[in-house]
Amino acid sequence: MMEIYKDPNASVDDRVANLLSLMTLEEKIGQVGQTPMLEYEENREEYLQGVREGRYGSRILANTAWAGNCMEKPVNTEEINEIHKTALEESRLGIPLIFARDVIYGQETVLPIPLAQASSWNPQLVEESYTCVAREAAAMGIDWTFAPMMDVARDPRWGRVIETNGEDPHLTAEFAKAAIRGFQGGDVADSERLVACAKHFCAYGGSQGGRDYDTTEFSENTLQNTILPPFKAAVDEGVETLMSGFNDLGGEPVSGSKRLIRGWLKEENGFAGTVVSDWGSIADLAYFGVAEDGADSARMAIEAGVDLAMTNEHYQDHMQELVESGKVSMDVLDEAVARILRTKFRCGLFDNPYVDNGLKTQVLRRDDHVEKALQLAVESLVLLKNNDGVLPLEKPAKGGKTIAVVGPHAHSKRQHLGSWCLDGKLEDVTSIYEGIRAAAPEANIITEDAAFADEMMEAARWADIVVLCIGESHRRTGEARNISDLQLPAGQEELVESLAKSGKPLIVVQCTGRPVPSPAVELYADALLYAWQGGTEVGHAVAKVLFGDESPSGKLPISVPRNTGQIPIYYSQKKLGKMRDFLDYKPYKDIEATPLYPFGFGLSYAEFEYSELAIDKAEISAGEQAVVSVKVTNKGAVKAKEIVQMYVHDHVSSTTRPTHELKGFHKLELDAGESIVVSFTVGEEELAFFGAKQRFEAEKGKFSIIVGADCNATDRVDLELV
Ligand code: BGC
Repeated sequence: MMEIYKDPNASVDDRVANLLSLMTLEEKIGQVGQTPMLEYEENREEYLQGVREGRYGSRILANTAWAGNCMEKPVNTEEINEIHKTALEESRLGIPLIFARDVIYGQETVLPIPLAQASSWNPQLVEESYTCVAREAAAMGIDWTFAPMMDVARDPRWGRVIETNGEDPHLTAEFAKAAIRGFQGGDVADSERLVACAKHFCAYGGSQGGRDYDTTEFSENTLQNTILPPFKAAVDEGVETLMSGFNDLGGEPVSGSKRLIRGWLKEENGFAGTVVSDWGSIADLAYFGVAEDGADSARMAIEAGVDLAMTNEHYQDHMQELVESGKVSMDVLDEAVARILRTKFRCGLFDNPYVDNGLKTQVLRRDDHVEKALQLAVESLVLLKNNDGVLPLEKPAKGGKTIAVVGPHAHSKRQHLGSWCLDGKLEDVTSIYEGIRAAAPEANIITEDAAFADEMMEAARWADIVVLCIGESHRRTGEARNISDLQLPAGQEELVESLAKSGKPLIVVQCTGRPVPSPAVELYADALLYAWQGGTEVGHAVAKVLFGDESPSGKLPISVPRNTGQIPIYYSQKKLGKMRDFLDYKPYKDIEATPLYPFGFGLSYAEFEYSELAIDKAEISAGEQAVVSVKVTNKGAVKAKEIVQMYVHDHVSSTTRPTHELKGFHKLELDAGESIVVSFTVGEEELAFFGAKQRFEAEKGKFSIIVGADCNATDRVDLELV
């Protein structure tokens, strides 16, 4: 008779329970570890023997690309199938391995970095884009990705700000949910989908001083109101896995925190999937000095609820002894194994783990994938400055105006893929110069080698318009790549100033993985377009916006500080206390109180007018909702998209609250002259927060609902919760 666990028609719970009851201790330990790539390549026979013996349950297809180079170790589908075959046909129970890789924002079609994606304020487009990414990764035999990142980032010195959706918990949650839907789809067992992983649980993004891996400190109030809500949203969205971070949170390294993982995540919020440790986060428990040694770290982590040890850290070496000596109960190990098996059953691995070797040629960089990435790259661009409407440029015909396209990013390629890109190919990246060239084949476009300012200046002298492409390298952003001072890389301020001296209109395209203020750009540039790290389609996207084929429609998901000293600066700050008594009301004597560019801000080639803000009722009681509406009119001459934002302000509450918080947004497209009435519903969900009663609830009293084009909006209506 067929065992239940082999029956695809049996329920996942029954299959898990049945399989678990058949497993030996050694086989269970095999499931809670994840082997790194090298163990296979260097010792193929030995590895396959381990697979036969059930010692390996998962494998991370990591890559030295992390250190900066694409395509050092592409995924090998034949190897994956060989391992699957060995596990299925030659191991005692035939348990498949699950293959994981950091597919963070692209496979071969590479999207803009998540910070740029959030600038689109278009979660639907992000979901569709990740559907394409999932399809490409799945065609490579990858089952599981370690994305999306849901850390709320309020310090752009931190290199991993590129992987975040910026400073706001609501925006972060909306984009994380979109990415999860894109990766997992309606049914994660679908062969074109991936298992997603919400990371890094939790608070890792708050490392002090922007120093990656450093201590994090958050009050319970901030943790509950700012850091945890995106994770709750991910759990509610059905994310299959979560990653426990490396960080020490107020004295409690999270990968050893029973309170947070077993308590908040699994018990309070009902997360039923797998928790995987981050790379090194179990060993760090001993390193930080809260566990005695490797064995104690393993005990602490599994008791805290870390089910799977990335790179095998300590579980494989110590779990047998820990269980046999009674230091870890079999129930605790069983629970971890059950969760991992559940994930494997749910993603269909037991029923068909193999990947069709030929699929990649049909799927990678499929036209519709490239088209989606282009659309997202276009919507990720944020126009921050456009003096006298210098943009859009007229598409010059032959013999028309000459455009100089110069600067370190005029011809760059690898840099636009960002630092968390393992499989993008340089030949697939359209540089900004190539994009402009392709968009205006007849135009007089001159360019120069990026290395010498004199050459660029000479090009500028011959041109009518200068497009200067500046910014950071991918090697200055990403994991473990932080900067202490929020400035452009050495020499670029001077470059902007020198090119401004040509006297020609100066369009700056800034390609950075973080907001970076530039005094020279502020002083001299006529236009500033943030292109972030825009992925393979960046060049075409920039050209479309420069020439006005599309109006820019991105808005900032993170404030641009005036200088490093302003950090942390984010729109949803609390009131500035006693400072109101001082005449100039400035937190610093030497600088404005405001950021250089605020959260939610971005220019368009159109102009939008907001009018007729209204609310359908002045009071609601528990369970009711009010509808807030506003009329938005495109007063400009071109079709364009606008992002309408809704913020909530709580007048009196049991704990202090930010002056306003984003609770809703809509992205609309309006023809020239068109008006649309947009509405938002406001109920307890939008008004709730974690207050003095130590739980989420909407407290009775007065609220203002503020609607407008960015976080400085002032038009408001009042609402009372009675
Ligand atoms: C990062 C994770 C990543 C993991 C696997 C770690 O260093 O913090 O975000 O998923 O490596 O590559």
